[in-house]
Amino acid sequence: MQLETFDLCIIGAGMYGSAAARHASSNSGVKVCLIGPGEPREDEIETREILSSHYDEGRIVHIAYASPVMQVLVRHTIKRFREIEKLSGINFFSPVGTIITAERGTSYFYTLLQGFEMHDVNYIDLSKEDIMKQRFPYLKLDDCDHPLFDDDSAGFIKARGMVEAQKKIAHLQGCHIVDDVVEEVKDFKDGAHQIITKEGHVLRAKKVLFCTGAFTAFKKFDPLKKKLKIQVNRETAAMLRIPEEEKDRLSSMPTMMMYRDNLALMPAVAKGAYILPPIKYPDGHWYLKLVTWAFREIQKVNTLEEIKEWYKSDGDQEVIDKYSRFLISIIPGLKVEEVKGKTCITCDSPSGLPYIDRISLTVTVAVVGNGKGATICDEVGRIAADLSLTGKWKSELPQK
Ligand SMILES: Cc1cc2nc3c(=O)[nH]c(=O)nc-3n(C[C@H](O)[C@H](O)[C@H](O)COP(=O)(O)OP(=O)(O)OC[C@H]3O[C@@H](n4cnc5c(N)ncnc54)[C@H](O)[C@@H]3O)c2cc1C
Repeated sequence: MQLETFDLCIIGAGMYGSAAARHASSNSGVKVCLIGPGEPREDEIETREILSSHYDEGRIVHIAYASPVMQVLVRHTIKRFREIEKLSGINFFSPVGTIITAERGTSYFYTLLQGFEMHDVNYIDLSKEDIMKQRFPYLKLDDCDHPLFDDDSAGFIKARGMVEAQKKIAHLQGCHIVDDVVEEVKDFKDGAHQIITKEGHVLRAKKVLFCTGAFTAFKKFDPLKKKLKIQVNRETAAMLRIPEEEKDRLSSMPTMMMYRDNLALMPAVAKGAYILPPIKYPDGHWYLKLVTWAFREIQKVNTLEEIKEWYKSDGDQEVIDKYSRFLISIIPGLKVEEVKGKTCITCDSPSGLPYIDRISLTVTVAVVGNGKGATICDEVGRIAADLSLTGKWKSELPQK
């Protein structure tokens, strides 16, 4: 049987893979295929093994990272959001700004400030006079938290919308999209690769790009001979459902990133938390969302079975209780209809940066988001697509 052959098969239709598919397929001479399962309905999660980190409506994006590498990846990604929205007809970006807080006088606060200054980020010091009261009258921060407002294209994206937009443009550009899980990738003798899916598709790819995120280590991917150091982590988001009138009262609320060791009185669990403003979810309700930066060792998961169990669970109840109380304490009088948990996984690398590299002449990887992959996804996808198709590293960042 003659197998359908692609110049490039991208495995994983999440935030990096869908971006890579759009960039790779912008060259009409290249036959590209993107393979990955679509999002399951809630009642299908139980039966799914391979899920994704992007099943959500809110992901913070902002430029004020201390790392110069992140700065470059973020800036290029954010500047293309409006173009992607226009080309796809799908809106996903809300540049509402971000309040970043750190404890007054700590070295972390000065690191943050240095990041803003060094990278020329537009910001306002909200601790001066009564700017905070005037702009965000419904917020009441603790005196120890020094707030800075990053108004330089920061805000949030709808992760699902972004992935749909990337896939839609890729499809319009001729990219073949397969809704399936890849079970195995084998090497052919002639240097090409055979891709076998769960539903029985068999494809031939001259080149393969793995964008399989936290699930990279769990299938038979022969070409990934070298094991990448990837730690997979459980994440719990506290979701606070609020009534319509609260959404109106908080309509100017930005995203928030709060760095403090004993935030919500859980010093052993997290180094702080980030908060998404009211966002409408597919169930028709408005939610505020809070996620912690948890210490990684206690969050670690090792097997597909553990991941599956985690997705099926309601998350860490202590995190949900304490952090929802904390959120209510900084928005006095907040009316909450329901508090629940949402589970998800992320993955980390030792450097805190993604792996974007060629494993061989025909195999490339673009994996690991370190909890901030949404912020950098389009530029990671672009660099990886170029690297796999041309072998060239096209970025002002050094490849190393
Ligand atoms: C609760 C939570 C909050 C977050 N908040 C933020 C935030 O505010 N800002 C931010 O920047 N980031 C945030 N992140 C992180 C961000 O979502 C991830 O870094 C990002 O999704 C990583 O992109 P990715 O493409 O590497 O992985 P994913 O988006 O997970 O995509 C990987 C894809 O590969 C597919 N796949 C895996 N194995 C196979 C296979 N064998 N065959 C076919 N397909 C396969 C999966 O189905 C998946 O779709 C958050 C994550 C979580 C869980």
